[in-house]
Amino acid sequence: MADAVVIGAGHNGLIAAIRLAEAGLKVAVFDRVLWPGGMAGFRALGGVEVGVGAYVVGVMPREVLARIGVDLAIDVPDPAAVYELDGRYVRWWLDPARRVEEFRQWGLGDEIAAFWEKLVALNKAARRYFFDGPPTEERLAEDPNARDLFGRTARDVLSQYLPREFWPMFLYEHLWDGPAYLLAYFNPPEGWGRPVWRGERGIQALAKALYRRALGAGVDVVLGVGVKRIAVEGGAVRGVELDTGKVVEARAVISTASPIHTLLELVDGVADEVRRRLEGASAAAGPYRLNAVLTEPVKLRGGLAPYRDSILQLPFGEVVVEGNVVSAVGAPDLEMLETYVENVGRIKAFEVWTPADYQTVFNARGPYVNHLPLTRDFLLCRPACGWGYRTPIRGLYLGGAGTWPGGQITGVPGINAAETVLG
Ligand SMILES: Cc1cc2nc3c(=O)[nH]c(=O)nc-3n(C[C@H](O)[C@H](O)[C@H](O)COP(=O)(O)OP(=O)(O)OC[C@H]3O[C@@H](n4cnc5c(N)ncnc54)[C@H](O)[C@@H]3O)c2cc1C
Repeated sequence: MADAVVIGAGHNGLIAAIRLAEAGLKVAVFDRVLWPGGMAGFRALGGVEVGVGAYVVGVMPREVLARIGVDLAIDVPDPAAVYELDGRYVRWWLDPARRVEEFRQWGLGDEIAAFWEKLVALNKAARRYFFDGPPTEERLAEDPNARDLFGRTARDVLSQYLPREFWPMFLYEHLWDGPAYLLAYFNPPEGWGRPVWRGERGIQALAKALYRRALGAGVDVVLGVGVKRIAVEGGAVRGVELDTGKVVEARAVISTASPIHTLLELVDGVADEVRRRLEGASAAAGPYRLNAVLTEPVKLRGGLAPYRDSILQLPFGEVVVEGNVVSAVGAPDLEMLETYVENVGRIKAFEVWTPADYQTVFNARGPYVNHLPLTRDFLLCRPACGWGYRTPIRGLYLGGAGTWPGGQITGVPGINAAETVLG
């Protein structure tokens, strides 16, 4: 018997488990995949560790890590990102003054300064709600910046400051009609960077740090064993049934798997209205990720060589380089990659993750890499209005990317769900 079972050893699941274990609960975590970190995890490919999904950390509040005692640093490169426009590179320098100079070359110095000010204000407004739930309509009405977060679209804010050709630098095109909140969410003032832990730098450092911390806190982390059903009796959770057939009893279950999977496939008794809402959400275009391990360090062509640490925003997708490994998220196109990577022919190992893979491997139905859409409706009511991290089933909580404040690597759903369990 466990006090709490956590479904999913993604970053949110591990963070929730650590918080509960530190509070004295006996906690078991189960994940159907063999690695910790979920979509922010890593696997061996060609003798090196390579990320399976996420590659950088951005909006994660550093206080989440401090609260669970994980001494992880985020190494943000300068420039944080390099964006190709008309065959030239626009560099997103960390120093705002240098950035203004950069954009002056495009006739946009004052515009970028004003846009940056707006982004910072939106980000501050968004973060105010991270730990106490989405803003209510009343709070939105009181705070002009918070009102903009959900009252305006990203497109509306972007078009106020910048010509359209610059918009992809700040937000994926498919999100432009989403709320301005997404601009804040995807453009944290501290920039995007690689986790660093015990001298190791790269996305794998995040999963390793959390996994080791969970083990140290006494959490029983079981990888490669999925949860088949959540057992419910008399409207209250009783535990979980594993794929192996074993039943683990628990007073509380936090699912950090997608709410679509959790509520439609793992448990009975979910109200028709909620089922319909989730079923209606299941049609998204997910990403591809290509990982190529070369026999030698990746050589970027000419103009990009000085920026190998930055996120490279190229016409076919985002590219990140880590030693001998080059990864591209967008179109899995080696030929296109060759335009930018001189020695891409020296491939030792190669893999492509497809949207279908994310769906089947992680049960990220949709496929949604953030478990649910990032629309106004699904952000303010994530997964359903008024639920927070609870569900109508007593003892069943949700705590992954499909809860407030949204997906990506933040750790906020995990810690908030754990705090809800602890009351
Ligand atoms: C290609 C790609 C690139 C991305 N890039 C970035 C990025 O650079 N930065 C960023 O912040 N975010 C990025 N993301 C999004 C980010 O990876 C996710 O939003 C985030 O990792 C979700 O974390 P989570 O812990 O909530 O859920 P997950 O990481 O999905 O973890 C949930 C876990 O639950 C497990 N699970 C599911 N069903 C069951 C079951 N029945 N039994 C047991 N276990 C189960 C899954 O295997 C999974 O490990 C990217 C995603 C993808 C796919």
